[in-house]
Amino acid sequence: MLNKVLVVGAGTMGQGIAQWMAQQGIEVELADIRLEAISKGVESINKSWKRLVEKGKFTADEVLSWSANLKGVDLETFSPNPDLFIEAIAEDLDIKKGMFKDADQMMNEKTIFASNTSSLSINKLCEDLSTARKRRFVGLHFFNPVPIMKLVEIIQGNNTDQEIIDNLKSWFEERGKVPALCQDSPGFIVNRMARNFYGEPLRIVQDFNRKKITSTDTILREVGGFKMGPFELLDLIGIDVNLSVTRSVWEAFKKAPRFAPHKLQEGMVNLGLLGKKTGEGYYNYEK
Ligand code: NAD
Repeated sequence: MLNKVLVVGAGTMGQGIAQWMAQQGIEVELADIRLEAISKGVESINKSWKRLVEKGKFTADEVLSWSANLKGVDLETFSPNPDLFIEAIAEDLDIKKGMFKDADQMMNEKTIFASNTSSLSINKLCEDLSTARKRRFVGLHFFNPVPIMKLVEIIQGNNTDQEIIDNLKSWFEERGKVPALCQDSPGFIVNRMARNFYGEPLRIVQDFNRKKITSTDTILREVGGFKMGPFELLDLIGIDVNLSVTRSVWEAFKKAPRFAPHKLQEGMVNLGLLGKKTGEGYYNYEK
């Protein structure tokens, strides 16, 4: 079903999606608007494979063949007509819509279009596209880190062909992912429920207090049984990315107080403290 995939957005998620896709034996092109992000993205995937070989998780031959499947390209030079075009760019409705509109004119109507959006409406994202494309437009919401996390939410829009949904579901299942079929609703399943996992701890901690942050994480991880505490997870996701998702779910629910963004999170974003990717967030990652 999928032999050639174009991933646009070489940040946290685009890298993870490209890595996992290449590991499935698919030809993957990874693109970004920033040229340095393309080379950095490919380099970081190759580094991660190298580490996995050193740990004995994969063989050098496996990694060599995956690496040959992966190519960094810019937005002018990607191969036309991939089987799947998946975007993992900024969580901004207008930016994503603009990208899909341009791509709709450039690619033949067989290409499936997918958004890795965490919270934006699939119906809105494809509203400017041709009727034929709307039938091949889906949400594919992967989780971070993509090569490890099995869940992928598959979101069906009002016009998405049932056949596309069924085929993608089987395709992911055959490759060890656990697809969850979702309706197009704010935050889908996980990000709607997860608002409370971040929102309540932020309201408990209130302001930047490392001791309270650490103990909240410790309680939820060690007693609550979660793999990561909320602040650890916020740092992994990216505090800016998480704030955009919070805002979009809050707005979609007509600014219901239970989904309101927290001033601590807004303050962190204003200061550029975005988590692991900037070296500092609720915790410090600088070596
Ligand atoms: P990121 O900030 O790490 O990366 C985004 C990348 O997109 C950047 O490299 C940026 O240069 C590029 N970009 C921005 N505008 C572009 C454009 N117009 N054309 C091409 N490239 C462009 O963000 P991320 O965390 O990878 O998130 C990407 C998407 O995935 C968002 O929609 C987010 O909601 C979603 N998502 C994120 C997570 C997570 O844990 N971070 C999980 C699931 C889904």
